[in-house]
Amino acid sequence: MVQGLIYEVFMSDNKKRYYRKHPELHPLIDKIKLWPSRSGVLHGVRKVKLRGQYIEVETHCGNVFRTHNSRKSRAARWLRNKWAVTPCVKCKVPEWKLTKYTNTFFSPHYGKNFTAKKTV
Ligand SMILES: [Zn+2]
Repeated sequence: MVQGLIYEVFMSDNKKRYYRKHPELHPLIDKIKLWPSRSGVLHGVRKVKLRGQYIEVETHCGNVFRTHNSRKSRAARWLRNKWAVTPCVKCKVPEWKLTKYTNTFFSPHYGKNFTAKKTV
């Protein structure tokens, strides 16, 4: 249901946004302000702080956690592959943010690059 909705949003707005590949996760989270949880829920990010090799993330629904500041991390991969598709109810992620997310990294070319790099 939610997946269908997001797909529709994507189809109705053909503007695509691509981010350059960063070696770090922090600029990415800082920019899109979204966090994919392991359960596939997309949270809104209230604060993201860089602490050495780690980033500290606070979601709108009150979760605070640390994660390694690497674009090879699970979160970066999930964001790129759009594996988190259910917006968090508590975070109340605004529609425009979801649309922006949906229109980002939707390039097959980007995916190819990523896969190639991963297998090396
Ligand atoms: Zn949340």
